[in-house]
Amino acid sequence: MMAQYLSLKAEARDCLLFYRMGDFFELFFDDAKAAAATLDIALTSRGEHDGAPIPMCGVPVHSAESYLARLIKGGHRVAIAEQTETPAEAKARGSKALVARAIVRYVTAGTLTEETLLDARRDNMLAAVASVGGEGSDEVGLAAADISTGRFETMTLRAADLPAELARLRPSETVVAEGAGIEVADAHLFDRAAFSSSRAEAALQRLFGVATLDGFGQFGRAELAAMGGLIGYLDHAGKGKLPFLAPPLRKTRGAHVAIDAATRESLEIIATMAGARAGSLLGAVDRTVTGAGARLLAQDLAAPLMDQAVIEARLGLVQLFHDDAALRDQLRAALRALPDIGRALGRIALGRGSPRDLGQLRDGLGEGRMLRERLDRLSDQPVLLAQLLPALDGHGEMVDALSRALVASPPTETTNGGYIADGYDPALDELRRMAGDGRRAIAALEARYREQTGISALKIRHNGVLGYHVEVPARAADALMQPDSGFTHRQTLAGAVRFNSVDLHEEAGRVAQAGAHALVAEAAHLEDLIAAVLARKADIARAADALARLDVAAALAERAAEGGWQRPHFVAEDGAGPCLDIVGGRHPVVEDALRREGQPFVANDCRLNESDRLWLVTGPNMGGKSTFLRQNALIVILAQAGAFVPAQAATLTLVDRLFSRVGASDNLARGRSTFMVEMVETAAILSQATERSFVILDEVGRGTSTYDGLALAWAVVEAVHEVNRCRCLFATHYHELTRLAETLPSLSLHNVRAREWKGDLVLLHEVADGPADRSYGLAVARLAGLPAAVLKRAKDVLARLEAGKARTGGIAAGLDDLPLFAAAAAQEEKDADPLREAIDAIDADALSPREALDHIYRLKQLA
Ligand code: ADP
Repeated sequence: MMAQYLSLKAEARDCLLFYRMGDFFELFFDDAKAAAATLDIALTSRGEHDGAPIPMCGVPVHSAESYLARLIKGGHRVAIAEQTETPAEAKARGSKALVARAIVRYVTAGTLTEETLLDARRDNMLAAVASVGGEGSDEVGLAAADISTGRFETMTLRAADLPAELARLRPSETVVAEGAGIEVADAHLFDRAAFSSSRAEAALQRLFGVATLDGFGQFGRAELAAMGGLIGYLDHAGKGKLPFLAPPLRKTRGAHVAIDAATRESLEIIATMAGARAGSLLGAVDRTVTGAGARLLAQDLAAPLMDQAVIEARLGLVQLFHDDAALRDQLRAALRALPDIGRALGRIALGRGSPRDLGQLRDGLGEGRMLRERLDRLSDQPVLLAQLLPALDGHGEMVDALSRALVASPPTETTNGGYIADGYDPALDELRRMAGDGRRAIAALEARYREQTGISALKIRHNGVLGYHVEVPARAADALMQPDSGFTHRQTLAGAVRFNSVDLHEEAGRVAQAGAHALVAEAAHLEDLIAAVLARKADIARAADALARLDVAAALAERAAEGGWQRPHFVAEDGAGPCLDIVGGRHPVVEDALRREGQPFVANDCRLNESDRLWLVTGPNMGGKSTFLRQNALIVILAQAGAFVPAQAATLTLVDRLFSRVGASDNLARGRSTFMVEMVETAAILSQATERSFVILDEVGRGTSTYDGLALAWAVVEAVHEVNRCRCLFATHYHELTRLAETLPSLSLHNVRAREWKGDLVLLHEVADGPADRSYGLAVARLAGLPAAVLKRAKDVLARLEAGKARTGGIAAGLDDLPLFAAAAAQEEKDADPLREAIDAIDADALSPREALDHIYRLKQLA
């Protein structure tokens, strides 16, 4: 057995091996130690290996799923080795005691389909990354799939953009080719051969039963390689059983607003920085009533669109449900009862489907058909609705077949049968009738035996070991023990004795045989039904998607109605330049939190246009600067995701890239110096933001000394204004920056208002024009409960500092004669380094050793 175990373990070195032994999965050696620690179960030992006891632990097969879930969450991968023959078969084969075992499946975070292991409201993505081109090529292919529903997408991108795309997809697991040198955190290395574009093409053609992939789009080699890796990995994990995958959706760069990982994190779009859904934008917006709807909404918010027509189509559907509350309520009530047909289909396609999954398809698609009829009666159908409704059609025949075939609530287990409805198959009905007759005959036997023996406590029972048998109390057993009684003794218990009889044996045999045949008949029907479903899997997946889209639209309408949100309007640039005009905007998450405390949220305007592109927002800490910055970014995301927005009105030109940066000290430490992180991220903005981008910068420059920080913030604002020319909100506590308004024509000053009233600070959270009149730092400190003595001392120090500032001009002294940013940049070019020029002028290939030495002397002089 140990030899068999070790050879299986050799196939699954990076996994914990679940080794099936009867009713348990056992783990040995280091696997046992790791699993016992993660699961908090007892570690025992068994036998010896190389003279040392073998550590062992085990989990019962019937509850293995919950243990699997915890191991996967704990970051493990699991290989499941099942017994592939019965002990009897093993004996017949000549193997004395050891039954054959084989790994039937690998369970990893990205390849789960079990309902109990998945979060119903979250996609479970598996991603694969591949690079092709040789040295210097920075192109990579990315393929991602959720095998629980068949969602499958792919794209080609620059390696530098990979982190942003992975942040959008949030995969549970990522695989890259061994030795490919692609750096992805926590990636799993997989056989390089799978990532071959030519093999991938063949595999995809097979998977989709097509002669060419052209119908799905023109795939680049990197994308194909990534898809190849993905499918190869799935093939490996399922031991040759491939899941259902929809045809790959080819995403192109530029189809979505570019949002890098740091921005996603800082805006808390799908999850908060701590990883929670509650408190994120998604959490504040989500009113979906189905798992599929929740998953789709998360996808939408993670990938706001760049195509105005598609955005308007989504908005049109939201508008319909927004304006017609009765229709919305009806739709949502129907959707709420809907099973998750996408995931049911996923399980069926993998051969892990149960009668219950078929029942879910029947109910879901049946309900979908009714919804279609209801929605089809609407006279004025928005474009998107007209596109979605046909997907709900055409399932009638299959739904009818499933309705006729299945009982009302089919079980997940097939072992006891009973899932095929009466009347579906006359032969099955007959078998059931026979089994029923047999059971009735047995009941009649019981009455007859009681009468015959005069033992009123006589019972006919059934158990797994004896089957049907007669049981009498021990004190009454003597009569039945007589040789001519017609009963044969089987078993004596403490208080009872058990017997068999010829009649009973016969009837029991009939029941068992009819039952077994009925089970076989049911299984055959199940197989047929599954085949019928799989023949239509693409259509079923489309229906599931359509229902999810309806749920999202109705949910967004519900959210809008609840909060008085409005439909955003998009305008073309028309020579006037991009605009971002939000009137009465609110922050959905902060507003929710305040409402729970009974506090009102103060709505604020953000009106950026070509002549007023950059707002510099000053004001006291806690005044609402961050909230204001973020709410506008969130409104852009919602608008371009096709949702109504928390504002009285919003007019915008499509934003191509969104950036959000928060000064270092607000940021979570991530190993690197936080100031370094801040600067790296700011550098990314300065190099990538375009005129059509929207950038929010919150206290950038704060992570270093006052002078450095002010100087950097100053230069960053100038560059954003002069070079990037993007729409930008810049919050700062450096009052000195307000001087920039004198030199930068498209920059304007704003402040979050505060008042001191009877010595107390009142934060109004209102964004007003002009610079803040003062910083209120001491007042905020007082609000925070700093001891009076410390405050008094700070006041004295401040008075000294301000006196000094009046004399010297303070921190900003000397800025008055600073040349303009553009002039400084031009000067920079003029001031080019002579040493550098001299080096540039050298033609290294044309030099003799002697000349080279001369050059070195000359360069040393210049230095
Ligand atoms: P700052 O960035 O200026 O330090 P924040 O944006 O972090 O300030 O806001 C601090 C707190 O003030 C928030 O947590 C919220 O409770 C409150 N707040 C912010 N903006 C508003 C608003 N518009 N209306 C009401 N309360 C607000």
